[in-house]
Amino acid sequence: MVMWRCNRPDCSRPASASLSYRYDDSSVWVGDLTADDESQHRLCAPHAERLRVPLGWELIDLRMAPDGVAVA
Ligand SMILES: [Zn+2]
Repeated sequence: MVMWRCNRPDCSRPASASLSYRYDDSSVWVGDLTADDESQHRLCAPHAERLRVPLGWELIDLRMAPDGVAVA
């Protein structure tokens, strides 16, 4: 399995979240990173938690909680 690195230049942690930007409805989707992820945006868990979206954009977190229950 491929291990992605966090996209932040000063971060060496493995990525755990995938980001998708949807410009048509100004939303940012955060999901669990998968091995076949084709996103260009990947973040480690701490950076995903601190993610801020531009004013007027909506952040939608689709990641699963540690106990397997969807947060959103
Ligand atoms: Zn990071």
